[in-house]
Amino acid sequence: MRLENNQKKKKTKWWIALGAGVTIFAGASLGALSAYNWSPEQAIEGLFGTSQQQILQSEHEQRNIDEDVKEIKQSESEPADDESELPAEDEDIEETPPAEEQEPRTPETIEEPTYVKGVLIANKEYPLPAGYAPGEDPEARASYNEMQEAAAAAGHSLVAFSTYRSYDYQIDLYNNYVAQHGQEEADRFSARPGYSEHQTGLGFDIGAEGQEEHWASDSFKDTPEAKWLAENAHLYGFILRYPAGKEQITGYQYESWHFRYIGKDLAGKVHNSGLTLEEYLGI
Ligand SMILES: [Zn+2]
Repeated sequence: MRLENNQKKKKTKWWIALGAGVTIFAGASLGALSAYNWSPEQAIEGLFGTSQQQILQSEHEQRNIDEDVKEIKQSESEPADDESELPAEDEDIEETPPAEEQEPRTPETIEEPTYVKGVLIANKEYPLPAGYAPGEDPEARASYNEMQEAAAAAGHSLVAFSTYRSYDYQIDLYNNYVAQHGQEEADRFSARPGYSEHQTGLGFDIGAEGQEEHWASDSFKDTPEAKWLAENAHLYGFILRYPAGKEQITGYQYESWHFRYIGKDLAGKVHNSGLTLEEYLGI
């Protein structure tokens, strides 16, 4: 009797399980049909990732149906999980710092200048804070004076006609250039405010005394002073910052008069490498 009863119980359980499975299957199919406007075949494929025929073949196998029921239960419970997780995800997005880092780097948004391997960088990619106003760098000036003396001994009279320029000064300068040449042309030779190396106090525009017509002019490159500087400036810590043929890298056309102080040791290395500062630093 017990055995029979157990068998009956087992049979009953089997039918209940099968009934439950089919009911859930039908309910889910109808739900999918109404929710997504699926055809019956699409609904089955969407729910089980198998064709209708494969489902019918396995319908008589309790184990398979049980697995399907599990799948349905999982898929039914998923939307609820998603809903409960959604607000948490929203909070995460709001609290994640990278959202702030994605802000464009402009002189108005950054607070500190960028140093790469200890070298202060100011170019079209790395602006300076609008309020960064260090004035002319004393070490750069001392080295320049030393260079000026050496040049004089070689028969060249140098003038540093533009060194430190403030953010506000650069606003006026850039706007004047744009008015005269248009913005596209002005951007090739003049930095926008906050992007000028002159704001670092380390950029020196150098010319020959009494030859103002060549100052900040392409014609300077053919003067004896320009040639002397190109060969010797690195000995005093200055590099020719915007060499010929490197506009795509530095962002500026050849400026035979613009030198940047980076210290004697590094200037020698950059000069001997034949690379621009950007290339040398790998930025
Ligand atoms: Zn300059």
